Amino acid sequence: PIDDTSTPEANVLAMEGVRHAFDGLPAVKGVDLHVAPGEVVCLLGPSGCGKTTLLRIAAGLETLQQGRVSLNGQTIAESRKRHLPPEKRNVGLAFQDSALFPHLSVLQNVTFGLKQLSGEARTERAMGLLKQLGIAGYADAYPHTLSGGQQQRVALARALAPSPALMLLDEPFSSLDARLRDRIRDDTLHVLKQVGAGALLVTHDPEEAMFMADRIALMRDGAIVQTGTPKELYCSPCDPFVVTFFGEVNQLDGVVSGGRVVTPVGKVEADWLPEGEAVQVLIRPEALRVTERHDLPASRHTHSHIVMAKLLGRSSLLHLCAHGEDGREAHLHARIPGVFLPAEGQQVDIHLDTSQVFVFPAGRRVVAG
Ligand code: ATP
Repeated sequence: PIDDTSTPEANVLAMEGVRHAFDGLPAVKGVDLHVAPGEVVCLLGPSGCGKTTLLRIAAGLETLQQGRVSLNGQTIAESRKRHLPPEKRNVGLAFQDSALFPHLSVLQNVTFGLKQLSGEARTERAMGLLKQLGIAGYADAYPHTLSGGQQQRVALARALAPSPALMLLDEPFSSLDARLRDRIRDDTLHVLKQVGAGALLVTHDPEEAMFMADRIALMRDGAIVQTGTPKELYCSPCDPFVVTFFGEVNQLDGVVSGGRVVTPVGKVEADWLPEGEAVQVLIRPEALRVTERHDLPASRHTHSHIVMAKLLGRSSLLHLCAHGEDGREAHLHARIPGVFLPAEGQQVDIHLDTSQVFVFPAGRRVVAG
């Protein structure tokens, strides 16, 4: 079947073969990316990997050097030859530092870009968005009297007001404290879905990307490493970098033998790799199920003891020393939901949830930056 969301015509945004350098230093090294109508795509990656540059190219704030950018099937920028200016792109911009007009009220800020509507329709549209974002009560207030979170909501309402087919958001929640951030993320996603705008959102926070995105494009060093749904990236990572980017992992070395790798905490399937291949085994702390001795059948546990245990609130962090059948010892971190605080030195059993364990050839060792 033909996947029509991957043809440039059907997409609100399509970027093809995009390359960009600053003073001869490459920042974006050949990126293909598309956003389908109504789809939220998150550009995720460590600091300096090129996320903002890519977003600025899509917005027209950076002149495209090489490649092609189309909006709704129309080429708007092409390898220095063509460049539609930002204000003609009908794209909503919400950047971390997008300042509100200080001399205009909240309502005036939001109606600013709605010149094509009559006065009444303008106010109605703006008030509707302010209501959806929970700040209708501040319509007459001036920006300097608002909290950071309220200002960000206004900036978002202003960007959404002209009903752009595409929203570009650069770390729009990063200056908010954790509790407020969760709420505003929730509201933003709700509004984006309700108005049906496609969105490209830059973040360096994997949890934010998982929450917001229909698809995530994970970048490293100017290139996209993997694109897919949050579940695809988390559960089927293509590369050690993808695993480590979503959180700390335990790394063990091993060798494929009989289609498996033996580790001090159990055997892991690796039958797609050649016999004798040196591998790295990445084990998420959540993959280690730790119980007091005797709870599991003997065949499913390995002998270990607690080196350190910390209660973190919603989970407990354990440092373990595991003793393998082959006499090898490994130090591992486990994260256990709820309150489980064994004593240091206590013997425990470990059961491995292999859906959270990933095996890669040893040569591909990469640690998230
Ligand atoms: P962050 O999360 O820290 O914002 P990012 O992934 O958005 O990072 P970019 O801001 O796109 O990364 O930067 C990519 C690379 O390009 C970096 O090495 C950066 O130093 C460089 N760079 C970005 N803008 C410029 C500029 N105007 N002049 C020179 N170099 C730049």
